[in-house]
Amino acid sequence: MNHGARNVAILGSTGSVGCSALDVVRSFPESLNVVALTAHGRLQELVEQAQEFAPRFVVASDPKAAQNFAWQGLPPEVELFVGPESIECVAAHQDVDVVVTAIVGSAGLRGTWAALEAGKTIALANKETLVVAGSLAMALAERHRATILPVDSEHNAVFQAMEAGRREDVQRVILTASGGPFLRHSLTDLQEIQVAEALSHPTWSMGPKITVDSATMMNKALEIIEARWLFGLQPNQIDVAIHPQSIVHSLVEFSDGSVLAQMSPPDMKLPIQYALSYPERWDGPARRMDFSELIELSFEPPDEERFPALQIGHEVAAAGGTSGAVVNAANEAAVASFLSGQMRFTDIVPTCRTILNHHDFDPDPTLEELLILDAWAREEVTRWVCT
Ligand code: NAD
Ligand code: MG
Repeated sequence: MNHGARNVAILGSTGSVGCSALDVVRSFPESLNVVALTAHGRLQELVEQAQEFAPRFVVASDPKAAQNFAWQGLPPEVELFVGPESIECVAAHQDVDVVVTAIVGSAGLRGTWAALEAGKTIALANKETLVVAGSLAMALAERHRATILPVDSEHNAVFQAMEAGRREDVQRVILTASGGPFLRHSLTDLQEIQVAEALSHPTWSMGPKITVDSATMMNKALEIIEARWLFGLQPNQIDVAIHPQSIVHSLVEFSDGSVLAQMSPPDMKLPIQYALSYPERWDGPARRMDFSELIELSFEPPDEERFPALQIGHEVAAAGGTSGAVVNAANEAAVASFLSGQMRFTDIVPTCRTILNHHDFDPDPTLEELLILDAWAREEVTRWVCT
């Protein structure tokens, strides 16, 4: 173990963000030390990661997958835990300084929660935690003096730009959106979208769920809600601008009209690195902007008629309460149905809208109530698909 290095747990280490986080560790072996890795599937990759990074613990969160897997390759000095509760144990472990939450969906909530309760520094990729329970999570962070550093590239950019001024002088945040693969599609074209098309993003390489979310623009809706809680903004302080080049990762407008942006070529390794190095900046392998070439940056307003998800994002950010948990779960289930060929692309967002409008809204729910509504919304989607 390196003395003075930051001890890191990566929840969801076999995913897109998880693998990028390990790339960052690979670049800074003196400064970062992996203590724990967790994965739900792709267990062979988890074993290979354990061989390379020699963590103290690995967690296989899906007991069935763990049971069916031959673990001989796992180095004997690495301790194996099985089951979702073990994610919470490693997230809260006393030897862990920073927890990278890179599990996809509301399944990531319990690990993030345990890290918050243990007062850890959290490099937050799992935006769904804040969408489902942003108000409760931020209060928990304050109570336990946990620090949340955003990994989501837009929020990481906002976080960086905000450091240039005083919080009370922030007037507006403008989240940029690439617009996804269907930015120029007509409503008719959108109805014919097949899974493979939705999984091919023009500027980012990501896991399947967030890639579909980017195509429907539900990802930006989730990010509006994430920004509302993370930065304590009023919902009307958050705007979205389409920026197809994905170079300006977001902008902050201050009260005097100055707008500050953070720019870099699109690569998740940079926001992950900043969350792991903060408040330091480390000279790493991130690709640099090349100003010897023509760089064109464009911004345009989003078309909320073709992408009605954005309206949901603004509404849910304003309503708070149970609405985030419901829309998030409905979206997760709808995306899963689309990926398995049971739902049309253009039905994902209307499904979320209907379930959101029909739920029993509570402005001040407990975590237990939110989890019950999460399950309810998923069942509603299943009922829709089956009828
Ligand atoms: P992914 O699908 O590539 O990886 C998900 C990881 O979570 C895997 O390690 C998987 O084993 C684990 N996992 C899946 N289901 C689980 C469950 N039920 N319980 C425990 N672990 C489970 O996802 P991703 O694209 O890396 O995204 C991870 C999170 O980061 C998401 O919340 C996403 O919104 C956010 N994010 C991702 C990107 C990106 O570039 N991929 C960018 C910004 C934010
Ligand atoms: Mg993002």
